Amino acid sequence: KLLYYMHFLQNLKLSKRTGWYHHGIPAPESIADHMYRMAMLAMLVRPDGLDIPKCVMMALVHDLAEAQVGDLTPMCRVDKAEKQRRETEAIHYLTQDLLGNSPAAANILQLWHEYEERTTAEARLVKDLDCFELCLQTYEYELAHGTRDLQQFWLGAASKIAHPQVKSWTQALLRKRRALWEGRGIAYDTPIA
Ligand code: ZN
Repeated sequence: KLLYYMHFLQNLKLSKRTGWYHHGIPAPESIADHMYRMAMLAMLVRPDGLDIPKCVMMALVHDLAEAQVGDLTPMCRVDKAEKQRRETEAIHYLTQDLLGNSPAAANILQLWHEYEERTTAEARLVKDLDCFELCLQTYEYELAHGTRDLQQFWLGAASKIAHPQVKSWTQALLRKRRALWEGRGIAYDTPIA
């Protein structure tokens, strides 16, 4: 079962982040790609009383249930309660059935729930990194492919970021984005759609 779990993790490498498909991004990033960069970003945050190693681990498990469920977006027409039900069932399958409630499984389950509940400073930071990582990726696709209909990703993600350091990264990235679109002769304030 342990080896089965290890193989199961491959799903995170193979499953693409679905949102990009609807915008014609060729060969979009996987769920594992997204979580890996979030973990690397967490390592750049000043601790200031935060447990950074915990944030790194939380970033690496926060979308783990998607190994079973896939990346459900509003386009999938699965409502929020049903999405939550499927993901909770999946995380229990992975940690209880496959990992047999081992100490490692308990740690993974705890981190996953802590992120979902967002009651700790660490969970809120990881959520901010989730949004910021999406902004980084959006900018990179705008840069690489000239995609002009990714505005919704910015609107959904950038405004939610609260941690001061992550917020300053977002502002710097927004300046780069403005320069990119203005350099292409498109007024930044024009909704890029
Ligand atoms: Zn995520």
